[in-house]
Formats: sequence, C-alpha cells, structure tokens
Amino acid sequence: MIALSLAEIAAVVGGQTYDIPDPSAQVTGPVVRDSREVEPGSLFVAFAGERVDGHDFAATVVEAGAAAVLASRPVGVPAIVVEDVQTALGALARHVVQRLGTTLVALTGSAGKTSTKDLIAQVLARKAPTVFTPGSLNNEIGLPLTALSATEETKFLVLEMGARGIGHIRYLTELTPPRIGLVINVGSAHIGEFGGREQIAEAKGELVEVLPENGTAILNADDPLVRAMASRTKAKVILFGESGEADVRAENVRLTDSGQPAFLLHTPTGASEVTMRLYGEHHVSNALAAAAVAHELGMSAEEIATALSEAGSLSRWRMEVTERPDGVTVVNDAYNANPESMRAALRALAAMGKGRRTWAVLGKMAELGDEALAEHDAVGRLAVRLNVSKLVAVGGREASWLQLGAYNEGSWGEESVHVSDAQAAVDLLRSELRPGDVVLVKASRSVGLESVAQALVETG
Ligand code: ATP
Ligand code: MG
Repeated sequence: MIALSLAEIAAVVGGQTYDIPDPSAQVTGPVVRDSREVEPGSLFVAFAGERVDGHDFAATVVEAGAAAVLASRPVGVPAIVVEDVQTALGALARHVVQRLGTTLVALTGSAGKTSTKDLIAQVLARKAPTVFTPGSLNNEIGLPLTALSATEETKFLVLEMGARGIGHIRYLTELTPPRIGLVINVGSAHIGEFGGREQIAEAKGELVEVLPENGTAILNADDPLVRAMASRTKAKVILFGESGEADVRAENVRLTDSGQPAFLLHTPTGASEVTMRLYGEHHVSNALAAAAVAHELGMSAEEIATALSEAGSLSRWRMEVTERPDGVTVVNDAYNANPESMRAALRALAAMGKGRRTWAVLGKMAELGDEALAEHDAVGRLAVRLNVSKLVAVGGREASWLQLGAYNEGSWGEESVHVSDAQAAVDLLRSELRPGDVVLVKASRSVGLESVAQALVETG
C-alpha cells in the first residue's frame, strides 16, 4: 500500500486507535487478511469468520512486523478499532484509489470475467504498470484488498466484480469507483439465485449506471441484454463484438488446427491479425473486450494484437492444455462450467481433436434452477452433433441428463458412459485412453473434476 500513517488510516475509516505508541508510524507494507502474508509494515485486517477469528492472530502478526491490526475490538497490540471491519476496509480502498488517481477498469459478466481480466491486464501491462485482481477475488473483500495493493507507480487498476444479486455491483463500485466499466455477457450463471436472465442483466448493468459522464461503458454488441445497457449510462459507449456495428470487432474468425482462435482485429485506429495462444473460440469475445479497453486507453491496433497473440492464461484450470509424453492431450477446464462455457469448450475440443479420438468428461452445471434438465440435455446432444467420440458423464442426476441427451440425439449407447464419481472416471480413462486421444474435463466448481485432469496428467 502507499505509505499512510496510522492516525490517517484511523481518520479515514472512522476508527479508534488502541495500544498505538506512535500514531505517526506508517503502514508501508501490504494490507492482508491472511496472517501468513504479513510483511514488515503491513496492516493486518482481522475478520471474524465462522471457523477462524482473525483477532486471535493479532499478537502473532505484530511480532511478524505488522504495523497494526484493523479490528472490531481491542486486541492488546497496536490496533485501529472500528465497528465493522469490512466497511472500514472499503473506505480505506476508496481513499487510496482516489488519492492515487489511477485509472480504474471494472468488469463483470456471467462467464469469462477472470479470463478477460487476465487478458486486459496482460495487454495494458505493456503500456504501463498495471495491478489486477489475483485469481477470482471479486467480492467485497478481495476487491478492496486488490485496490490497496496499488502503488504510486500503478497506472491501471483492473478489477473483476462478481454479482450474486441486485445491488452487489453498485456496492462494489462505491468502494472502487471505475472510470471504465465493461460488461462481457449475460448468461445463465447463478440463474437459480437471480430468478432469470433479465434480473441478471439488471444486476450487471449497475456497473454502467454508476459511470461518470467522462467515463466509458464498454459493451458486448453481440449480446442483446448487454447491448441494451447502453441506455442505462451517461458515459460514452464503446461496443465490441463480431457484429458490424461494433467499434472494436473481429473479422474472419476461425480456429487454427490446434484449436486456437485467430481473427483480424479492427479498432477505430486500424486493423491487425491476432492468433491467440489460448484455446477456445469464447476467447475471441474476451479478447475483443480487452482490445476495447486497451483502445480506450490509447493503444494502437498493432500493439493490442501483438499483446493478445502473446497472452497466456494467468489463472489455473481454465482450458489448461497438457500434452502427455504418450501423445494424449489433456484439456483441464475444470475450474467452472455453465451452458455457455460448456458449449465453447466442446467446440474447442472438436477443433483440437480433428482426426483424433475425443473424450468429453463432463459433470454437472450448478445453479441452473428450472433450466437444469434442459441445459444438461442440450449439452449431451451437442457432444453428439460435434462428433465427440466419447462422453463420460460424472456424478448424480445431472450426469444422467447429459447421458440421456446424447442417447436421444444420436442413439448413443456405448459412446457415453455414466460414472458415479471422479475416481471412477479416472479408473475408466486410465484403462481406455490411447495415444493421440484428446480429453476435455469440465464441470462446475463444486464437482471438483480437476482431480480427474490432474490424475490423467500424472499418469502420462
Ligand atoms: P467466476 O464467476 O467463477 O469468477 P468467471 O466469470 O471469472 O467465473 P472464468 O473463470 O474466466 O469466468 O471462466 C469460467 C469458465 O467459463 C471457464 O470454463 C471458461 O473456459 C469459460 N469462459 C471463458 N470465457 C467465456 C465466454 N466469453 N463465454 C462463455 N464461457 C467462457
Ligand atoms: Mg472469476
């Protein structure tokens, strides 16, 4: 964090100082919530969780060099005591980003936030120092902690924002008010909790409602519910997508033989060819979103195209491709799944597997509410239509719907197998895989199918 005195921090968060001999002492190290991450000069934020109470670590962190603890009660070591630690953390983040004058880019959407955030960060980092959300820390705690890791050198701050209901995004933008707001898509992620796509759009669109007049809303021209958000903002609007009306668009989109997307990128300043290192056509949309942000921040089409072509994945288990020594290719996309990303991953598998035997090892897509049966059925059918060689459906009821979809679409019998759990899938694959096969592993987070991908990678 930028250097701030304990007195200043206490004033910003409306806290009371306890056991602090010198209020002019400064916090110079990172602001952290995990005692193991404390460095000399850190501010340790004590959250009282269900299992662990951060306050119990107060003495330990001060011994490790923390300047003070942000706490909800006195803890016998230097502390700034507030009523609510989370609110105080947010207030501190807001104070710091305003003081820094860093350009804030916030993005949200149903699927691909982390992938897109990682692309934006890699593109912008070529122009100037960039700080971004690590992994998927996109909630009311991760967001301020990320913002607080910005320093005087930081030019761009890229923040992923997750929404689980109406008002969530609005709340997050109050902590860290963005100048650029990007909405990538409205899909069916968490549709069970929200109640419907319109409600999801309502919630995600809060991001563009809060933008200032001199801000920029970046919207997906190919997604009608996102495109319609243009009427909800007073900021300038930039559209990205494959649609002709998009300001930043892709032409001649194709998958290379290895399944990597390639396209001609058009921005208002020019055009340049992109061949991505990432797998799956869904990254075209993510890349265009990143390109629109970079264009808005002054980068040329050539600079952006080069950066996109060289960008790799920064987050685990998202279309992570491993070539085994025996010629089996394992595609680990087990981080998460929803209908959109299932379809994108299956199409990538089909492209990568031309002339090879392809396996789709799939588990349930969670939180689909009433649409669960139809969506799993549709994915099973798509596997057949894309000529996937084998479907291994893993888990309970939803897995049987996947298998049934395949059965109904292509009279699939032996081509699809239903196994009860990850271990059974591993056992099956270990005995059946042959050199040259391509295996995609994908399901919602709660299924934990990464264990299958990892076991397969280790077998090779
Ligand atoms: P979370 O809500 O868990 O933070 P997220 O929105 O950050 O998820 P990612 O982690 O980037 O999304 O990707 C989740 C899954 O969606 C991955 O399986 C990925 O392959 C897929 N995906 C990535 N981009 C898109 C996209 N534009 N459309 C559909 N699916 C996508
Ligand atoms: Mg994420």
